[in-house]
Amino acid sequence: MKIYDLIIIGAGPAGLSAGIYAGRALLDTLIIEQALPGGQILQTAEIENYPGSEPVESGATLIDRMEAQAEKFGVAKVSDTVKAVSLEGKIKTITCEKESYQTRTVIIAGGSTSKAIGCKGEENFIGRGISHCGTCDAPFFKDLEVFVVGGGDAALEEAIYLTKFAKKVTIVHRRRVLRAAKSIQVKAFKNDKIQFLFHTVIKEVKGDGLLESMILANVKDGSEIEIKADLSDGTFGIFVFIGYSPATEIYRGKLNLTEKGYIITDADMKTNIEGVFAAGDIREKSLRQVITAASDGAIAAVQAGKYLDELEEADQQ
Ligand code: NAP
Repeated sequence: MKIYDLIIIGAGPAGLSAGIYAGRALLDTLIIEQALPGGQILQTAEIENYPGSEPVESGATLIDRMEAQAEKFGVAKVSDTVKAVSLEGKIKTITCEKESYQTRTVIIAGGSTSKAIGCKGEENFIGRGISHCGTCDAPFFKDLEVFVVGGGDAALEEAIYLTKFAKKVTIVHRRRVLRAAKSIQVKAFKNDKIQFLFHTVIKEVKGDGLLESMILANVKDGSEIEIKADLSDGTFGIFVFIGYSPATEIYRGKLNLTEKGYIITDADMKTNIEGVFAAGDIREKSLRQVITAASDGAIAAVQAGKYLDELEEADQQ
C-alpha cells in the first residue's frame, strides 16, 4: 500500500492551509474530506474579518480559492469518511468507509459539528423548520417569521443575514449579555427587523409536519409562553447557532482531549503522539476563526515536514 508523507483529515481553512504549505514543501500529501470542502465556513455569506476578504467575500468563494491553491501545489484529495485511526508508530493507518490509507504524519483538521437545542420535538423538525445554516436555508423563509437561537457571533451575523429574507427575526438568547463582537451587536441592534428575547430558551417545538408552534421558557422566573405561527403563514423558522462540538469521538482514548472533547496540542500543533498534529476548530484554543485555523494549518504542515526530516535523518544513521 502506498505510504503518504502526510494525510490531512478535513478540508476546511485549517486543512487546506496545511495542504498549501505541505504541497509547497513537496510533501506527498492527501486530504480526506467527508463532505464538501470548506466545513462551517461554507455557511457564512459574508466574511468581513479575514484580511484581504473585502469588499465582499463569501465562505464558499474563499474556500474555492484555497482549494485551487492546494491543488496547484499537487495535493491530492479524496471524498471519504474516516471511521478509525491507528496513530502509534512510524506508519499510521487511516481507515475510511471506502478505503484505508497509510502515512507517516497526520494533521487532524476535522472541525466541529453544530450543537442541537436539545428541546422536546426537535428531531422531528430538522430540515423542516429547524436549520443550522442561514446561507443554505434562508430563501425557504422568505416573508415568514424566524427565530434565531444563540447570542454569539454566528447567531447575530446570521440573524442580520436572515433579515434579507424573513419578515421579522427574533433572537432568542438564554442570558441578557450577548457574546458576539460589539461591532456585530451594533449592527444587529440597529436593524429594524431584529428583536431580542433575553433570558429565554426553547422548551418544545410542535406541528403537524411543519413547524407550527413552540413553547419558550424564561430561565429567570420559569414562566412559559407559546408562540404560534401567523395564521396566514402557517409556519415559521428556527435557526440554531449555539456553538459547536468537536468531531473527536474516534480519537478518544488515543489523543489527549479536554473535558469538552477538543484535542490538546502545543504551540507547534503537536498532539501527544509523535507525527500527529491537530489544527483549526478541533483543537483547544481561545479564538476559533478562519484566520486562526489557517495559521494552525500552516504551523502543523511545517512541523510535519520537520518531523519527516528527523525521521529520515534517524533512518540514515
Ligand atoms: P459561541 O461563540 O460559542 O456562542 C454560542 C452562543 O450560544 C452563546 O451565546 C451561548 O450562550 C449560546 N448557547 C450555547 N449553548 C446553548 C444552549 N444549550 N442553549 C441556548 N443557548 C446556548 O458560538 P458561535 O457564535 O457559533 O461561534 C463559534 C466560534 O466561531 C466563535 O469563536 C466565534 O467568534 C466564531 N465566529 C466568528 C465569526 C466572525 O468573526 N465573523 C462569525 C461566526 C462565528 P452563552 O453566551 O450564555 O454561553
